[in-house]
Amino acid sequence: MAFEDVGASIPSCNDVGIAQPRTALVGMPSMEQLQMMASAAGVVVQTMAELAARGSQVVADLLAISGDGFVEWAHYPADDARDAMQSSRYFYHAHAGPGRLASEHGHFHLFLDKGAVQRSEPLEMDPLDQNPSTADLVHLVGIVMNPFGQPLALFTTNRWVTNETWHPAADVIAALAHFAMSSPDTPANRWITGMIRLFRPQIEALLYERDRAVAAWAKDHPETFVLEDRRLEVTSIIAVSLADHIHALDEQLVRLGLSAG
Ligand SMILES: [Zn+2]
Repeated sequence: MAFEDVGASIPSCNDVGIAQPRTALVGMPSMEQLQMMASAAGVVVQTMAELAARGSQVVADLLAISGDGFVEWAHYPADDARDAMQSSRYFYHAHAGPGRLASEHGHFHLFLDKGAVQRSEPLEMDPLDQNPSTADLVHLVGIVMNPFGQPLALFTTNRWVTNETWHPAADVIAALAHFAMSSPDTPANRWITGMIRLFRPQIEALLYERDRAVAAWAKDHPETFVLEDRRLEVTSIIAVSLADHIHALDEQLVRLGLSAG
């Protein structure tokens, strides 16, 4: 897939006002969502335990399958991971050194084919848009990883970053459940599918924040078309701690009288 590596980078945590790891759940997940998250937590933890038992972790395992060592900007796997039955895709990569967060090894980008995302309102064409997107994919979220295979942060990006077809947050959120890397059954595929369900409240908040950031940028820079403005790359970002998040989830489940995941 196309990915415009135009030398842009993810700003440092402070540049984008990254929040500290959340120890509480974002928003008010429904009972159904909490149960989905608990099930996903089990998948994520189990997958990491299986990998750890053989001295590996999710990124190392993915890179080992790809072979060839780790090269900045290259996609892992080379042709992106694509679900055989669904319309889900992802790849892992790293930007050049200065473009990485402190402690970042690289990050995943998760996508759905554009046919899997329904548009609730007609697309408004902006006269400043010189490159109306006909891209095949919709970007859902990025997952920043540390060198030990632990997630550090989740983020969204401006349209030009992944050359995606742009949809409002609500439309992307409505399609999130379609993301499933169910075939082939690899540790990385299981882990990624679990992560997008486990951190669903954070991803929803990030997508709404993305739309707010884009709208604010457009207001402040009326001379440019915001979705192609190279000065705006990361549109929202939040630090995450797997342990803290699962702990908060377990506490919430116990409070509601549901058994913890
Ligand atoms: Zn990237």
